[in-house]
Amino acid sequence: MIPAFSAKSYDFAEFIPARNYIGGSWGDPKTSKATLEVLNPRWGKPMSKVVMSAREDVDAAVASGKEGFAKWREWPIRERAHVLYKLRELMMKNIDELSWLVCHENGKIFSEAKAEVEKGIECVEYGCSLPNLAAGNQLEVSRGVACEVVYEPLGVVAGVTPFNFPLMVPLWMMPQALVGGNAFILKPSEQVPLSSMRLAELLKEAGLPTGVFNIVQGGRDVVEALCDHPDIKALGFVGSTKVAKAVYGRASMEGKRALCLGGAKNHLIVVPDADVELTAENVVASFTGCAGQRCMAASVLLAVGKVDHILDAIRQRAAKLVTGTDMGPITNQASVERILGYIDGAEKAGAKIVLDGRGTKGTDGGYWVGPTILDNVTPEMAAAKEEIFGPVLSVIRVPNVDRAIEIENRNPYGNASSIYTTSGDVARRVMERVDAGMCGVNIGVPVPREPFGFGGWNDSAFGHGNMTGWDGYRFWTRQRKITSKWALQKDTTWMS
Ligand code: NAD
Repeated sequence: MIPAFSAKSYDFAEFIPARNYIGGSWGDPKTSKATLEVLNPRWGKPMSKVVMSAREDVDAAVASGKEGFAKWREWPIRERAHVLYKLRELMMKNIDELSWLVCHENGKIFSEAKAEVEKGIECVEYGCSLPNLAAGNQLEVSRGVACEVVYEPLGVVAGVTPFNFPLMVPLWMMPQALVGGNAFILKPSEQVPLSSMRLAELLKEAGLPTGVFNIVQGGRDVVEALCDHPDIKALGFVGSTKVAKAVYGRASMEGKRALCLGGAKNHLIVVPDADVELTAENVVASFTGCAGQRCMAASVLLAVGKVDHILDAIRQRAAKLVTGTDMGPITNQASVERILGYIDGAEKAGAKIVLDGRGTKGTDGGYWVGPTILDNVTPEMAAAKEEIFGPVLSVIRVPNVDRAIEIENRNPYGNASSIYTTSGDVARRVMERVDAGMCGVNIGVPVPREPFGFGGWNDSAFGHGNMTGWDGYRFWTRQRKITSKWALQKDTTWMS
């Protein structure tokens, strides 16, 4: 059994090594001995370790999943949803413990970690509601002949998740997949393998039958084995664009259903009539929340015309943030170096650093970059084009909204985009023309809350539809169409 995580503050705390969960038992990989440290980013030291699994561990998880699936698919959907009701109750009861675990393995400040767990609970609630939503249609299509649609599970399915939301992103996938009647294999990020272990324990306590949920810890080898395995019928992935595209290609080549969400470069447009306070508060929360390590974080600010008063309010507000208290650390040293590289590169290319987060240190060690604002960035600079994934806002000055939209449209990603204005007409024009799947009006992190589906466009998503909401249920199920005739009539053809 995986014990509860004991930390109740940011003080350094260790946790047991990350293990695989297969067939209802915890164990280590069959042959592989390779390990990786799990770092607490605030302290910059290992709080646990993870043994990296291999192909044969995926085989074992699939075998367990097939056994679990055979039982689970027989449960009526309402009974399957009852397990999620119980899971919700257990998550609520243990919300502080789960939040501290997310906080320690990922680095988020406590309030952000708690918001992550709360959002995970919201996803579970959506799963609870599925018995009320998932009734198929039925119609008498010709005399005495009825056609009906039934949503059937796919079988054993899998999810691969990133480091930045250790608990929430698995819960973008699992509620719909499980209530839909599938067995689920989770491959968490090797950087944050711990929260999902507690989730497995809570699912067990909630009454999920053995084998219906399995965890295989590891990295690329495990993901490739999941893509290749013929008995895994669908794969959900969330991570960087390069990997999302490769995983989508590999899983699709094997004939499985795949939905792979990738990285982002979100553009916010600010026009002169925008409300100063609202915009400043919102933009700062967007680019510094979770230290900028969110796929919905503001990255480029397109400053239209005379908006210096708004930019100044943004700078003043961001400058007041206290790292460690208001903003957490960066996930690891390599990421710090990547972020600093973008800041240095932009400065060399002529950008003006109006707020400089370089040189920020934590009191306890760890990996830090403070809030950073680059002004006079040009669309050609790497800081304007590539995903930085840190608390860096690149300001590009533009003369009008048309030019802002042109720059936004030229970026290959399409996760999020927002407009700050008090004009309904400007908002409408921008919302009609930006090339992004999740858009905001005076909202810097326009995450569609349940029941609306989460998912971007272009290089931010490969595959069809959204990850959450009803699209999620459709992704993890298939439709059986049944046409029946009970009034046997001699004078009709087989088609009637
Ligand atoms: P990542 O792509 O490095 O890793 C994601 C998952 O893929 C992990 O489980 C990892 O083990 C696995 N992986 C890594 N390299 C692989 C390879 N070569 N082949 C197969 N599998 C591989 O992403 P990350 O650094 O953990 O997360 C940050 C990224 O995720 C950012 O780009 C961010 O924008 C993106 N993200 C996107 C969304 C979204 O909804 N679009 C949400 C969260 C994060």
